[in-house]
Amino acid sequence: MKYNSTNNSTNNPSHQVDLKEAILRSLPPDNGLYMPDQLPTLGEDFWAISRELSFQEIGIAVADAFFGEDVPLDALKEIVDGTLAFDAPLVTLAPGDHILELFHGPTLAFKDFGARFMARLMAWLTRDEDRELTVLVATSGDTGGAVASAFHNVPGTRVVILYPKGKVSGLQEKQLTAIGGNITALEIEGTFDDCQALVKKAFLEREVAERMNLTSANSINLSRLVPQTFYYIHSARQLPEGVRPVFVVPSGNFGNLTAGLLAKKLGLPVEHFVAATNRNDVVPEYLRNGKYEPRPSVATISNAMDVGSPSNFVRMSSLFENSWDEMKLSISGMSFSDEVTRAAVREVNSLYDYQIDPHGAVGWLAAEKYRALHPGSVTITLETAHPSKFPDIMDAELGLGAVEIPERLAVLADKEKVATTLSKEWEPFRDWLEANIR
Ligand SMILES: *Cc1c(COP(=O)(O)O)cnc(C)c1O
Repeated sequence: MKYNSTNNSTNNPSHQVDLKEAILRSLPPDNGLYMPDQLPTLGEDFWAISRELSFQEIGIAVADAFFGEDVPLDALKEIVDGTLAFDAPLVTLAPGDHILELFHGPTLAFKDFGARFMARLMAWLTRDEDRELTVLVATSGDTGGAVASAFHNVPGTRVVILYPKGKVSGLQEKQLTAIGGNITALEIEGTFDDCQALVKKAFLEREVAERMNLTSANSINLSRLVPQTFYYIHSARQLPEGVRPVFVVPSGNFGNLTAGLLAKKLGLPVEHFVAATNRNDVVPEYLRNGKYEPRPSVATISNAMDVGSPSNFVRMSSLFENSWDEMKLSISGMSFSDEVTRAAVREVNSLYDYQIDPHGAVGWLAAEKYRALHPGSVTITLETAHPSKFPDIMDAELGLGAVEIPERLAVLADKEKVATTLSKEWEPFRDWLEANIR
């Protein structure tokens, strides 16, 4: 399979790259994002039996459709089995109101799916190399932890995490800074967008990126999106025959929503998508008025969605041939303030005795609104993180101790934070790389 930049609209073959380049170099020189030259579909045979397939079997079929030309099936099976070491249960709150729990992985957020798959695929792609691979990742909260966990102790790899100082929760920070070994944390005096800009800059400086053998683990990396299609298919196939779900996706960088669009391209029957955001509503605004205007992010209680310039927007848009009219037919946008999000956390708890985290609560609000506008719709809201990752908010809304902290998170509380603080400028970051990455 060949990969093409979203900016290479003429499909100039000399700008196309192979899988290894697309995954390890992440960012095309023209500043677009890589997409498969031809989007794969799964045939009638697959969809006819898909309801009987396990999560793993669905994952293997999808991985084979995307990567089968380049990666042998037995290697893909191992990668998928290693990724899906936990389930993604579909919970029904009320008729038509479903929650897809994506937080059963080691770092309690959906990003474990993408990070675990990416780490395994990168390890396979570099299996014959003796140079150390350095994975750069900017995080607004959950990405860094998932990537750190996925790469921890993977031989031949090192991870450098950039996170915005003072803008991630205490336990999130421990997930980034206390793991040690081949994982290094840089605390940046700026916003998530500043962190993301530094990572992007490092890749655009081709000489630096190549000499240091840098790769990116942000959702600009295509290998994170593919495994996220698995749970769209798996959850939809648990609904009664013939029901087409509306997927409601709490969104920041829009990797998760783009994965849903890829699932639909694979052939999954989907009624509609809802892009649910907090006050960082660049995409809902675009869906409303056709103007795409990135702007600085603002801090909210759903901090993993505090993104003012969503990196996957160009991918989303490319799936609709960059047509606003086409995108509007498939996706609705809705945004919610912190105040109503807090109220939703309380409401879901009192109505259903279900503890939903602030990100999932933004999604649930959008699902409620969508069903009110389109009676009879069946929504699947993606619950992207476990509520215990946000103890301040959960305690404030539901009372102390309402949410139990899973053991795998609780053990971090006593570990020591180790991080280097840097300003948001390029030069100090470049100097740090020069001094620390061989
Ligand atoms: C990353 C994250 C999101 C946003 O996902 P995108 O793919 O960037 O849109 C939402 N919720 C949680 C908990 C996250 O960690």
